[in-house]
Amino acid sequence: MEAAGLCSYGASKQRIRRIAAILEEMYGVPPARREDPLDALVETVLSQNTSDVNSGRAFRSLKERFPSWEAVRAAGVHEVADAIRSGGLADVKAARIQRILERLHRERGSTSLDFLERLGTRGAQDYLVSLEGVGPKTAACTLLFGCGLPVFPVDTHVLRVARRLGLISGRCGAEAAHEAMASMVPPELVYPLHVNMIAHGRRRCRPQRPRCDGCLLALECVLGKENALE
Ligand code: SF4
Repeated sequence: MEAAGLCSYGASKQRIRRIAAILEEMYGVPPARREDPLDALVETVLSQNTSDVNSGRAFRSLKERFPSWEAVRAAGVHEVADAIRSGGLADVKAARIQRILERLHRERGSTSLDFLERLGTRGAQDYLVSLEGVGPKTAACTLLFGCGLPVFPVDTHVLRVARRLGLISGRCGAEAAHEAMASMVPPELVYPLHVNMIAHGRRRCRPQRPRCDGCLLALECVLGKENALE
């Protein structure tokens, strides 16, 4: 467990709202997205350690190959791995997905996550992270995209952008960053801010040589201000 003490943060709600508004000016209002919770969970498991393009292809292939999650559970692990081959780590992910489906089937009597919404946000988070291979980011994506709950997922793009903006300290790891963002971001901004921070991280605030020239967030940004002084 990561030490939350290493993660200093403390942006005001006002500052978060300002950043969200600037990002909206840059990338627009994200279209609403809502999917089946189990779809969202499997999609996020498939996205671990690979690109969105590859994981998206693997997810579509899995859905095309099998008519239901129950059919994925009952299939041979090699069949599942073959269906998701394009997503990388296919054997590991196939076994992981099947163990999750098996546990749902055993404990809940059906391969569905529809019961999550009845557990409340904290209960649903606790249940999800108790599943094998499911950490805070996968749980948060499932709850945000699958249940419409305001839980902020922190992926590699969000972590980088949040550090550069000084929302969290540079020593703050992904796990503590989830707690930090949860405490800072008003519920109605969780979805649009998450989606637009990812867009920003991909298009402009890239890991190497971020395009700070002309970035509307430069005045909010620790790194942007340093670059402007050079
Ligand atoms: S100014 Fe540069 S480092 Fe800061 S948010 Fe914009 S692109 Fe990222």
